[in-house]
Amino acid sequence: MGYNKEYYIDALAAVAERKKEAEAIADMETKTVQISYPEIQEIENKINEIGLEAVKSAVKLSGTADLIKLKEQYESLAKQRDELIAKYKVDVKLLSPQYRCKKCNDTGYENGKLCECVKAIAKEKYYKDLCQQMPLERSTFENFDLSLYPDDCVSNMNEIFKFCKDYADGFNPTSKSLLFFGRTGLGKTHLSLAIANGVIDKGYSVIYGSSQNFLKQIEDEAFGRKSGDTLNALLDCDLLILDDFGTEFLSSFISSAIYNILNTRALKSMPTVISTNLSLGEINSVYGERIFSRIIGNYVIKQFTGKDIRQVQMVKNNS
Ligand SMILES: [Zn+2]
Repeated sequence: MGYNKEYYIDALAAVAERKKEAEAIADMETKTVQISYPEIQEIENKINEIGLEAVKSAVKLSGTADLIKLKEQYESLAKQRDELIAKYKVDVKLLSPQYRCKKCNDTGYENGKLCECVKAIAKEKYYKDLCQQMPLERSTFENFDLSLYPDDCVSNMNEIFKFCKDYADGFNPTSKSLLFFGRTGLGKTHLSLAIANGVIDKGYSVIYGSSQNFLKQIEDEAFGRKSGDTLNALLDCDLLILDDFGTEFLSSFISSAIYNILNTRALKSMPTVISTNLSLGEINSVYGERIFSRIIGNYVIKQFTGKDIRQVQMVKNNS
């Protein structure tokens, strides 16, 4: 997929920074060895001299005898150097730059084309920008509070909590899709974001955000009001989390965009997590049979129960 040019420019700058850093570290390590073990440096200097002489005699064609002699000297010096390196336990690997990307050695290009590492950085940044409105850090499994639910709902919510945690722990790009429904304030967004956190930690690409915002953005981009590639990002990420499904302004464009997203991901067995305040019946009547059947046929459905936990929390804090 393509992003705005700025994403690639930023990604190339980040890769150039990695290259500089790797080379600076190697440089520093080399200088440390030169200072700490001058005898290694002396041998190294002699080896360099022999190299130069070998080039000269090869150019002069002054016979193979010289070259054989030089080769013997070189081998003897190299052996001494290796012995010293072993004796002082010098980590030779650190003396040459340890580039992060083995494909392009952090140049950003492989065979004249943009390297995968640049594309990965651009993608990560683009995804982050798409998700920036949601408070990811604040919603984890650790700070999900089951004590805020009334007694008759605790066992259901405990089951959902465990299910979500297992889902995040065992996530893979063909995990099932999930639908969370229930009234507002029952922890649907919290657990969706906790899943996002867990799945991001496992190294997968996740896009999460309000369904309404994403669809507005897709519409603006489709009609040239904004630049970007939100639709492809939503189709492409390992896990898509659509929060507050059902609050979109449903034009025929938005309707078909929703169908396109859910259908394409379902056909490729790519997981989507939807949370909504609508009941199943309302999803059917609002979105119609085509979208409803996509969800019912493919999603694991969890109904959230309880009282609005934000209100419960407020009462608890004030008492
Ligand atoms: Zn690379």
